[in-house]
Amino acid sequence: MIKRSERLNNVSYDLCGPLYERAKELEKQGHKVTKLNIGNPAPFGFQAPHEVVQHVIRNLTHAQGYSDHKGLVSAREAVKHHYAAKGISRISADDIFLGNGLSELIMHAVEALLNDGDEVLIPSPDYPLWTAAVRFAGGKAVHYTCDEESDWNPDVQDIRNKLTSRTKALVLINPNNPTGAVYAKELLQELVQLAEEHNLVIFSDEIYDKILYDDTEFTSVATLSDTVLFVTFSGLSKNYLAAGFRAGWMLVSGAKLKAKDYLDGLNTLASLRVCSNVPAQFAIEAALEGQQSIRELTKPTGRLGQQRAICYEKLTAIPGITCVKPKGAFYMFPKLDTAKFDVKNDQQFALDLLSEQHVLLVPGSGFNYQHQDHFRVVYLPEPVELSDTLDRVQVFLQTYQQL
Ligand code: PLP
Repeated sequence: MIKRSERLNNVSYDLCGPLYERAKELEKQGHKVTKLNIGNPAPFGFQAPHEVVQHVIRNLTHAQGYSDHKGLVSAREAVKHHYAAKGISRISADDIFLGNGLSELIMHAVEALLNDGDEVLIPSPDYPLWTAAVRFAGGKAVHYTCDEESDWNPDVQDIRNKLTSRTKALVLINPNNPTGAVYAKELLQELVQLAEEHNLVIFSDEIYDKILYDDTEFTSVATLSDTVLFVTFSGLSKNYLAAGFRAGWMLVSGAKLKAKDYLDGLNTLASLRVCSNVPAQFAIEAALEGQQSIRELTKPTGRLGQQRAICYEKLTAIPGITCVKPKGAFYMFPKLDTAKFDVKNDQQFALDLLSEQHVLLVPGSGFNYQHQDHFRVVYLPEPVELSDTLDRVQVFLQTYQQL
């Protein structure tokens, strides 16, 4: 019997877990399954900017060799200019690492920091890679509450209550997946102060920072201080609709002087995997230097703006469902009234929905949410398909009522 490493105990990623495997079986049996398990824009007809794709094609012949392990200097310069324009000071291309999606960089950032038993404060609900990465690195994921009653904003007092002498870092996912919350500057300032007091690294996952609705302002937390170490993550998967390119970056800024050893560790991990996919690195410079923006899509008349409106109206029209309207990203995280619906185990709930209506959704527990009464909707399908899918969810819910 060949057994997996014990480091994988308690490591999971439910977006592609057993429910997803079941969906693939149903497809093999000839059923059409609406797969809303993951935020992958291309299968729903979204296209990366033409100029980005063309730049990659033009540069394919120059992309045959390895690049520097941190990435092409031209692409890292583009990332540097992008953040300097936002107001992050004293950064150079050397502070930037390119990765095969930001998933790889999340693993590196966490693995380079943690010793066994070190703690990282992670939002609940979270994008589950963060919890998985911390556990895989031997750390302890300590979940802090994001409060649905307060538009899913982090509960700062809960964060303070959960600090210990082992706490090394605070993870922010802003705009948030799965809730769509976008954090105000004042809240971020409070969190920076807390990180300063307790010498925490701030990991800020900002992969949706351009997907904003209703004139919502976005603040990149690393613009707020020079005395905290920030690692800011983003990439092309969402803002530039190019998830398949696997192109992401992280920027280390702020209190770099006291983090020299950690930076050396990041450098070692980057070099162990030689470099990230080089054609996709060309996409990064074209995206950041190009003119095209996802902003058109998020306006009320744009495709994402319309789909958000449909999704919110349809969900909240179902008796027993409430939902905070997202300010960013392309997800909703509605709540089921358990006095009305018979949901004791949200994985079972999602499995029953999949079996009966062939709609694949990830339940709240897949996002390390402690209650069994939420699920996430990815509102990427075009309006007709989205409407039809939510109608099927509504039909299913009628069979799931408390007696
Ligand atoms: N972080 C968040 C919050 C995400 O939602 C995702 C993907 O859904 C990722 C990271 C991973 O992104 P990438 O495709 O760049 O690996």
